Amino acid sequence: MIVLKSRDEIDKMKKAGRLVAEVLESVAQMVKVGLTTLELDHFAEAFIRERGGVPAFKGYKPSFTNAGPFPATLCVSINDEVVHGIPSNRPLLEGDLLSIDTGAKLDGYFGDAAISIIVGSPRDELEVALVDVTRRALKAGIEKCVPGNHLSDISHAVQATCESEGFSVVRKFVGHGIGREMHEDPPIPNFGKPGKGPILKAGMVFAIEPMVNAGGYEVVSSPNEWVVRTSDGSLSAHFEHTVAVTEGAPEVLTLRSEKI
Ligand code: MG
Repeated sequence: MIVLKSRDEIDKMKKAGRLVAEVLESVAQMVKVGLTTLELDHFAEAFIRERGGVPAFKGYKPSFTNAGPFPATLCVSINDEVVHGIPSNRPLLEGDLLSIDTGAKLDGYFGDAAISIIVGSPRDELEVALVDVTRRALKAGIEKCVPGNHLSDISHAVQATCESEGFSVVRKFVGHGIGREMHEDPPIPNFGKPGKGPILKAGMVFAIEPMVNAGGYEVVSSPNEWVVRTSDGSLSAHFEHTVAVTEGAPEVLTLRSEKI
């Protein structure tokens, strides 16, 4: 069941979303060669807690892994890691591709967003193109978040953007509804034919999150490990926003000051 949110609830979600946006903006500014991802994580946790929020991922126990509760505030997935990378003492290297995903709960509501950043100078043009297409795929998906469209119009827009430029979208992990729970209905695949699934209505709030690979779409993970990697070792990027469907234009609740 897709839970519709009132204007008042969307305004509360906007505050949670703003907190997530601010922590990602701050973390993005810190990223540099030599810093560890654990340092980013410690900063992010303190940032969220100081503002009255609770890190949404820390302690999270999903059904898809036996790896135990997620131990950190940020998921930091490097290079061929797709999602759910655990922050560590590994120092960042020139050209590393970081996908940073985080969520926060504030005043009873969740925000969830992700960004991809290249550390220092890019390794090559493909890396730059991958980050760019993933950002644009998310934008294309968001533009479909208007009343009267079908859910899979979002999925199709994301897939078409990526595949037309030779990249592939991950099938195994998908976006989701969000609100008082971090993961609500509906699941939002990043692929599919248009015109399928529920019709969008004002008050629906979605976390849309394309995970895009430079190679094939297949991913691998072990049952006792959180991190998910591309099967072929190719680079992967991830962008995510929490977006409300309104009577007017889609409202991005995790909007950052930089481009989308
Ligand atoms: Mg999410």
